[in-house]
Amino acid sequence: MIIGVPKEIKTLENRVSLQPGGVHQLINNGHQVLVEKGAGLGSGFTDEMYESNGATIIDDVEELWKQAGMIMKVKEPIKEEYPRMREGQIIFTYFHFAASRELTEAVQESKCIAIAYETVEKKDGSLPLLVPMSEVAGRMAAQEGAKYLEKTFGGRGVLMGGIPGVPPANVLVLGGGIVGVNAAKIAAGMGASTTILDINIPKLRYLDDVMPKNVRTLFSTEGNIRNLLPTTDLIIGAVLIPGAKAPSLISKDMLSLMRPGTVMVDVAIDQGGCFETSKATTHDEPIYMVDDVVHYCVANMPGAVPYTSTLGLTNVTLPYAVQIANKGWEKAINDDPELRMGLNIADGKIVYKYVADAFDMEY
Ligand code: NAD
Repeated sequence: MIIGVPKEIKTLENRVSLQPGGVHQLINNGHQVLVEKGAGLGSGFTDEMYESNGATIIDDVEELWKQAGMIMKVKEPIKEEYPRMREGQIIFTYFHFAASRELTEAVQESKCIAIAYETVEKKDGSLPLLVPMSEVAGRMAAQEGAKYLEKTFGGRGVLMGGIPGVPPANVLVLGGGIVGVNAAKIAAGMGASTTILDINIPKLRYLDDVMPKNVRTLFSTEGNIRNLLPTTDLIIGAVLIPGAKAPSLISKDMLSLMRPGTVMVDVAIDQGGCFETSKATTHDEPIYMVDDVVHYCVANMPGAVPYTSTLGLTNVTLPYAVQIANKGWEKAINDDPELRMGLNIADGKIVYKYVADAFDMEY
């Protein structure tokens, strides 16, 4: 099969769908890989690195889409790319169809085969192609929080780890899932006194067992959160209720319980946010103040670290891509129920219930 890797053209997207080592693996499986000129530069991979692994670098993106039997991308196709999608062509990428009727209809019209990273699902309900991005966002949340605690950014001027004789920062992590655990690990690693809140008791029990000594767990209730706010320096919002808007755990009136310069990082902003005063921001202007509290609400945090994010993403997508390329999409999804869950639209028909439900469309 010919696999095409176009350059991402969505604003500020520096990731790429395949790293040079991935090209090598696909070629070893008997495939041909076309990489658009400069596609990897944003992530630190030069055309020469792809070429030395056997890829063909191609300048003409229209030609790349025309020749490829499978297009691997990172973000959903944008308007400029709609006319390039064609009947029978496999497109393997993050689609997030439920967020865009326009994209859904464009993919239906093209009659391509849309396999969405975000809905590939394991038996236990976990979403393996979303995990690395949650890991990146969680780890970054602690890092960014530490930075914005500095006085020049409006923070309290508190050092995460304190020093001998001066106590460390108090960090509250709301949600003990993938984002939360990764945030807590880094915060605790920096020396902060860290509390993870969740509503899932078995999860809290597990975290209590495996986390370092400076991490404690607490059942998530409004009362418990209110009690902690007056002594907290950094709050990281990392809750998720699958398929629903994030629950709002900190209301505007609760900001008055915090000290000026407290920092709130709302990682759940891509699901609407878990603080009432959150509104999405960008890496250009990541923070704003409400009642002297610093708010950081960047919706695509992994975009800031494209090298790590690209490697993390391609580690998990490549094995599925190899299956699709080796067997063709129909046999690949028949053989692998996880990959089957990724098929959203095929030959104009929506085959993933939640996408159809989002727009009251036929399923
Ligand atoms: P996850 O499902 O692994 O974890 C969510 C946790 O929230 C679960 O443990 C759940 O029990 C807990 N929870 C639910 N309701 C709660 C409540 N009321 N109080 C405390 N805990 C509660 O999800 P995840 O992968 O960690 O993702 C968390 C959020 O981060 C999601 O909204 C995800 O979309 C978002 N995210 C954002 C970015 C970004 O760049 N901003 C990147 C990756 C993920």
